[in-house]
This record gives sequence, structure tokens and C-alpha cells, in this order.
Amino acid sequence: MDQLETTTNAVGSPDLSSNERRGQKNNKNDENNRRRRPSMRKPARDVRDVPQSRRQRKDSSRRENDQAKKDGLDGENGRTKTNAGTSLTRTNSPVIDFDGLSRPSFGTRERLEENDESKAMRLERMKSAVQTLLECIGEDPNREGLLATPERYAKAMLFFTKGYQENIRDIVNGAIFQEGHNEMVIVKDIDVFSVCEHHLVPFTGKMHIGYIPNNAVIGISKLPRIAEMFARRLQIQERLTREVANAIFEVLQPQGVAVVMESSHLCMVMRGVQKTTSTTITSCVLGCFERREKTRNEFLSLVGVNRR
Ligand SMILES: [Zn+2]
Repeated sequence: MDQLETTTNAVGSPDLSSNERRGQKNNKNDENNRRRRPSMRKPARDVRDVPQSRRQRKDSSRRENDQAKKDGLDGENGRTKTNAGTSLTRTNSPVIDFDGLSRPSFGTRERLEENDESKAMRLERMKSAVQTLLECIGEDPNREGLLATPERYAKAMLFFTKGYQENIRDIVNGAIFQEGHNEMVIVKDIDVFSVCEHHLVPFTGKMHIGYIPNNAVIGISKLPRIAEMFARRLQIQERLTREVANAIFEVLQPQGVAVVMESSHLCMVMRGVQKTTSTTITSCVLGCFERREKTRNEFLSLVGVNRR
């Protein structure tokens, strides 16, 4: 009876971390996120890539498992097993795909492999779209100041989203070194410029990345470059933070990763609520940062998120 209570009343159980508690509430959604590939060398297995029939079989076996837990048969054991060393912050997207690309990657492959001809065609289409925009806001796209604007904007937009054609393997490029180092490494105040996917206007801010190595360290300049790769896409801050943390976790297999981002969103600052001084802070902690409050607090005080 005791067992039954610990499993079914996990929400109220005081020894759970907040992430776990959140996980219990969203149990169904998170079930899919728990499996993690051990290394980027192995092919990514996204639930969406698994054939339908196999997915259904897994789902049904999971349902049986859940039923067993409810019956108190495999209660405590079952929960420990599924929670051990797994993270509840994962999404359905594999961080690193079969060939080092990462989702969303329709455009990643297309832009990576495009030739001069398709590149020119893409630019032409973007230019005419911007011309339409100019007309629609009541401007004259043929006046002198605006003549080259469609092309300039198209090129700027391609730059803002250049992360779609970047590949995490090329970025890391083997810069992982077996140093036997196991102390916290932090790179803070990384400038981040990204584009809000809801309004197509920028959000900018600082990102702080920390990790605790498991003997292997990553070339320190790779951390800002990984942040840059994910920032140069259409994003929301929450996902950006999570993607950076998950990518580092996957590439490096450290004991833990923590990413905090503070930023200002133009869609909030110059439209909508127009709260010009507000800062949005998001964080994603994995591994030992998720498990140990002390480690997490050490990171937060070192990056000084609450300094203002
Ligand atoms: Zn927005």
C-alpha cells in the first residue's frame, strides 16, 4: 500500500525535484521524451522516425507497465527505472540528426545542399515577397531609398537564419579532449541574437552556459558557436535555451549541463505590452545540475543572474 501511494501521489511527494513533479503532471507527453541516445555516433531515433506499428507496440507495452504500477506490482521499481539518468526536458526532436543536422531541419538540408541556381531562385522569391510587404504597408517600392531594400532585407534575413545551414558536427569538429577534468566550466555573457518565430522580430540577450565534464572537455569557443547555431534560426527563447543544453549534453556526454538566457524581446518592447525594461529569463538544467540543488545554485551564483 505504501508503494502504491508513492507512485500515484508523486505530485505531492516532497523528495521530487520540480522538474520531476512537472513531469508527473505531463506524464503522457513526456513518456516519449525519456529515451536518450547514448552518443551522436549512433543514428538518431526520433519517435516520429519509428514505424507506426512499432510505436504502437511500444505505447501498448507502456500502457501495460502503467497499469502494473497502478496495481502496485512494480510500483517503486518502475518509477526509479524510468527516472534514472533521464531528463524530462527533452522534446520529440532529436538534437543531432543522422548526419549531424538538427531539427527543425527541412531547411537545413535544403540550404546546405543548394546550388547557385536554387540560391538565386530563393533570393528572387524573397525579394518579391518583400516588395509585396512594402506595397502593403503603403510604401512605394520604386522610390529611391527603397529600390534595393527587398534584396538587402532578403540577404539580412538569410543571415539571421544562417543557423539552418549549420551542422553541429562541423562546429564541434572533433574538439573534445580527454582531460580528466571534472570541475565546473562556465562561459558567461555570450551575446545572442535571434528571431522570434511568432513575430519575425529580433530578441537579443546574454546566454550563460555551464557544464561539469565527465573527463572530456569541449573546446571552449565551441560553446558560443553552438549557441549561435541555434540562435540563428526562428526561435522562441525557451526552445533556444533547451536546444543548446541538449546539444551540449549529447555531443559531450558530461555529468551535467546548465544554460541560462536573459533577453529582451522586441515584439514585447516595441509592440504589445511595450514593457521596455523587462527581461525574460529561461533556463535548462540537465544531469547533475538537475539532480543537485547545490550544483545548480553554485552555477546560478557564478553567472550572477540575480545581480540586478
Ligand atoms: Zn514575438
